[in-house]
Amino acid sequence: KPYLADSKRYDTMTYKRCGKSGVLLPALSLGLWHNFGFVDSTQNAREILRTAFDLGITHFDLANNYGPPYGSAEENFGQLYKADFKPYRDELFIASKAGYDMWPGPYGNLGSRKYLMASIDQSLKRMDLDYVDIFYHHRPDPDTPLEETMGALADIVRQGKALYVGISNYQAEDAQKASEILKRLNVPFILHQARYSMFDRWVEKDLLHTLEQNGVGCIAFSPLAQGMLTDKYLKGIPKNSRAAKDLTYLDPDTVNSMMEKVQRLNALAEARGQKLSQMALAWILRQPQVASVLIGASSSNQLKENVKALEHLNFTAEELKRIDEIVS
Ligand code: NDP
Repeated sequence: KPYLADSKRYDTMTYKRCGKSGVLLPALSLGLWHNFGFVDSTQNAREILRTAFDLGITHFDLANNYGPPYGSAEENFGQLYKADFKPYRDELFIASKAGYDMWPGPYGNLGSRKYLMASIDQSLKRMDLDYVDIFYHHRPDPDTPLEETMGALADIVRQGKALYVGISNYQAEDAQKASEILKRLNVPFILHQARYSMFDRWVEKDLLHTLEQNGVGCIAFSPLAQGMLTDKYLKGIPKNSRAAKDLTYLDPDTVNSMMEKVQRLNALAEARGQKLSQMALAWILRQPQVASVLIGASSSNQLKENVKALEHLNFTAEELKRIDEIVS
């Protein structure tokens, strides 16, 4: 039946400012890396998107190669957007990216102007959108001059194909250089997308500080370490989990090797009166530079559970110390 968004959708979500920009993002955003490809159930994908928007999640994160196969998450999203979300376009903040392997030959990967200009056009076509709200360079390319890559992002904005730009997976030093170039080009650079969880704290070294200095927000991906920071693997690897289905991204050995830490974190979360997944998300949101935490979900119930993290965000100094000890 036709979708009518929940009239209470803005009542409980928290919105946070992206750096020094005018953009507010929901504290939790939804990523479409997994569970939205042609290999996945469209009905489930549809339910997850509807549930997200009903919960006040206005930000959906895509990339050219999300699927599998490549491009299929954008294509599915385009279909569901047309069916359910078109009346809400101005309430949505939609992201895409290019930077990883996408099509064969020398122009379908990394950071050339040639690749980025073609990829944004393909993404818009697949999603049936006139523009995305933010377009990212997905990972640094050591062999292409940063001026070329940033210049392409700037022209994508000038052509009206994106409103804002971002970068992802750049180290602090390169993020600083990118920021300087984009400032000179007068392009609104508002987000850096970086992996950040209790199990991967690299951004704390200097990236968060660099972003703050430049008025750029951080959006944290894989905050649950792809599911490890939940209670799902405590009794082994369930058949329908990412670790059972997708060995390239999350292999069972890694999962098993982390379980002792997960047990201890889980006990700490229980003592706080919340689920481990909720504690893991709250823990990232304690950082003022983090504008949003980008979660994945294979069901709408996971999404509902994760959004409840916002009901208990504060940590005592003692709890933070315990977490440091467990994960170090
Ligand atoms: P998460 O760490 O949030 O992992 C999400 C997965 O964890 C879910 O798909 C589900 O897996 C499991 N899960 C989620 N909630 C629960 C719960 N409450 N209980 C039990 N299990 C749960 O993030 P992702 O790794 O999926 O990344 C999120 C997004 O970040 C991506 O969709 C993408 O948009 C972005 N990203 C960006 C990258 C970049 O290079 N810029 C790289 C990677 C991600 P299961 O299938 O096992 O149920």
